[in-house]
Amino acid sequence: MRKKLIVGNWKMNGSLQTNQVLLASLCQAFDPANADLAICGSTPYLSQLQTCLSASSIEWGAQDVSSHESGAFTGEVSASMLKDFACRFVIVGHSERRQYQGESDDLVAAKAQRALAAGLTPIVCVGETARDREAGRTEFVVKRQLSAVIHAVGHCTSELIVAYEPVWAIGTGEHASAEQVQSVHRVLRAQLQAATGHSDRNRILYGGSVSPSNAAELLTLSDVDGALVGGASRDAHQLLSIVSACRP
Ligand code: PEP
Repeated sequence: MRKKLIVGNWKMNGSLQTNQVLLASLCQAFDPANADLAICGSTPYLSQLQTCLSASSIEWGAQDVSSHESGAFTGEVSASMLKDFACRFVIVGHSERRQYQGESDDLVAAKAQRALAAGLTPIVCVGETARDREAGRTEFVVKRQLSAVIHAVGHCTSELIVAYEPVWAIGTGEHASAEQVQSVHRVLRAQLQAATGHSDRNRILYGGSVSPSNAAELLTLSDVDGALVGGASRDAHQLLSIVSACRP
């Protein structure tokens, strides 16, 4: 049985001071019996995450990584730099990066490959827009996005975490229904199984307006192995209630 994983995506939010308060509350009350927990913060705060979380069972990671190993790529952050701050995870292909930074499926795949080569676990985000869903293209889009990564990482596919994040559900307060989530997760699970030969290796998270009020319903679906949480992850009480909803 896959232990559930809750990942907080702080996005471009926080300050040294507010992070400190939030991390202290999380460390004090987090119960690892319910689920694993990780926080993905902005790069300048990775050192703070390492300092504050090292003695706890909460893990941490970054929100993006360069597809290059090193060199003349001003402003980019390499996978080995993330490893210097003991990151375990890195989010790749978040829809905000696909949308605002024009990241293609191939670039996302190269980032996932680079992360794996450095010993990081990529959390690969896939998801359809509202227009894709209305046009009946949901399955096609998520399979295309994941297939680019599987093609690039080959036998390391079993190391991936996948996050299904419908774009229309991110930050909108409108989460996908249990039926929609389970149906896409089943498709992704089958795709991963075809690539790895295993049905139970990869954790598939759901993300998109997860909150304490919908967590229990979404996190008990059979193919949902946890959640990628944006807005609610900046509030310790809300994030911990989402963790509690994973109670085995
Ligand atoms: C996200 O940013 O990955 C996310 C799921 O955001 P929210 O929970 O705010 O919808």
